Amino acid sequence: MVFTEKDANYEKNISRSILASMQTPAVGEAGKTGSWRTVRPVIDASRCTVVKTGKPTCHFCWMYCPENTVTRTIPPTFNLDYCKGCGICATECPTKCIEMVSEKESRDGVC
Ligand code: SF4
Ligand code: SF4
Repeated sequence: MVFTEKDANYEKNISRSILASMQTPAVGEAGKTGSWRTVRPVIDASRCTVVKTGKPTCHFCWMYCPENTVTRTIPPTFNLDYCKGCGICATECPTKCIEMVSEKESRDGVC
């Protein structure tokens, strides 16, 4: 079998598609988690780098969230319909301005 340039382009496009799908998780791949999440992320915007600089310079929280539920905005926001409370955003935040707060405390109005 002869491997043509057309075959090579086809394989290249397939590889790009696979890579793109791996790099771009769909929102809420674990389904709506609001009912079973036990902790939620709460941001202290006054300590957030993008808020302080007014520029999209950080956004590690957006980049590392496995559920794609953090917005790349100033300030970042969390879609709690799909956030599963894993805490990766809080762990990766360089200024530690995201705190994981128990759902019970947030329901009771403690935070
Ligand atoms: S805790 Fe943070 S990283 Fe984990 S799903 Fe929620 S927003 Fe994303
Ligand atoms: S990782 Fe932390 S400092 Fe960076 S944008 Fe997100 S909340 Fe702000």
